[in-house]
Amino acid sequence: IRFEFVYLFGVMLFQVSAQIVELFEACRQQSSDLYRKETCRAQLQKDIKTLYPDARLYLTGSTMSGLGCRSSDADLCLVVGLKVGIYKFLQVLLIRAKVPILRFKEKGSNLEFDLNVNNTVGIRNTFLLRTDIRIQPLMLVIKKWARTCEINDASKGTLSSYALALMALNYLQILKPCVLPSLQRDHPVSACFDPSLDLDMVPDASHRVPHYKSKNKSSLGDLFLGFLKYYAYKFRWDSKVISVRDAITFAKVSPDWRGKFICVEEPFEMHNVARAVHEKAKFDAIKARFDEVMCLISYFLK
Ligand code: ATP
Ligand code: MG
Repeated sequence: IRFEFVYLFGVMLFQVSAQIVELFEACRQQSSDLYRKETCRAQLQKDIKTLYPDARLYLTGSTMSGLGCRSSDADLCLVVGLKVGIYKFLQVLLIRAKVPILRFKEKGSNLEFDLNVNNTVGIRNTFLLRTDIRIQPLMLVIKKWARTCEINDASKGTLSSYALALMALNYLQILKPCVLPSLQRDHPVSACFDPSLDLDMVPDASHRVPHYKSKNKSSLGDLFLGFLKYYAYKFRWDSKVISVRDAITFAKVSPDWRGKFICVEEPFEMHNVARAVHEKAKFDAIKARFDEVMCLISYFLK
């Protein structure tokens, strides 16, 4: 499949931008998908409230960030005051994850839910990803490519979709001229609302960070190729940390970063979003996929 993907990419390089948009239109989450997820969320919230009257349930992740596919799961954040009580209630069902997650499916369908408790940074950073609509097709094709290459599964020691999204955003930020600025720096009100202060302020699905008029006129195809090329040849995995918050990469000087294979800074909490990549073999596989795709593209471009 990987070869086929790259083969098609090589043959149709000049049509890549159109193909990316086509793929995006075919795969993107539909309003009926959002409606289904929202209906489940509302019902669940109602049920949970019978046990915890103050509890609130929020949809996060690609369902709300605009980076969702028809097959994407629904990420949920349950916000409760009685943290200890609810954890006791969920104990038997928790699966192993960096942030404990309760995973379940809607009865009779494949719609999967990942529910965390009080991890409100997820609400916050989801809306940070809700960027310019022009780059959403690019983000989606990157995710599709990574999934095809089996490097998009944090539970298997590779990259989460969130880590990939931050890697892509950072690439767009450091281009000259940049495609995107630091949203936290330039749009502090839209990008930096704080749900721990006021959860009623959570933007709805129509919220978007103001359109940024970039001087960079590269096509989606150029940007996709540029992303692959950057992480295959230019990015220094051994010495650099990816920072979307500051729109830069910085040196892994602090002990928090040193020795980690891939460092992607969480824009609000400063932990490593790529911490799932803790095995050398998995790290090598990720780098190999970038190298491989570039070798094939170079071959077809000859
Ligand atoms: P997919 O469509 O593949 O499900 P996604 O955009 O929902 O992609 P996930 O990796 O499933 O991405 O993450 C869901 C949400 O959880 C992210 O949008 C982010 O808000 C939050 N999240 C995931 N990983 C982290 C992390 N390491 N630190 C903080 N928040 C995270
Ligand atoms: Mg998700």
